[in-house]
Amino acid sequence: MRDDHLLPLPELDTWRNDAACRGHDTALWFDPTRQAEGLAICDTCPVDDPCRIAGRREEGIWGGVEIRSSVTTVQTFRCDECGQPFTRKVAAGTRPVTCGYRCRQDRNLRQAREARARRMAS
Ligand code: SF4
Ligand SMILES: [Zn+2]
Repeated sequence: MRDDHLLPLPELDTWRNDAACRGHDTALWFDPTRQAEGLAICDTCPVDDPCRIAGRREEGIWGGVEIRSSVTTVQTFRCDECGQPFTRKVAAGTRPVTCGYRCRQDRNLRQAREARARRMAS
């Protein structure tokens, strides 16, 4: 038996580094007309288990499984971070702020930096 439980915890979300979908158009996982392409990529992905867990409250395809929600429509939004348009299947009344994981992460880092700067200034 391997003593995996004695190893340090992996950094949060490092599984995304191995995701087969890296670099692909996010629409493949959120636009119903293109999800067959996304699913084919998920089939080759080594990190589908953590992905499925991460996506359990989200829309779209995560870990090779479509996460369904009661009322969804496909809409086009503009990313607050990079300014690019993107399509996503969303629940009524919701608006995604960023186009994908990379921009969400950039945005989180920037907000953390800004909060730190504000604390230092006060
Ligand atoms: S299983 Fe998740 S991480 Fe892997 S390709 Fe599919 S959506 Fe991307
Ligand atoms: Zn973006």
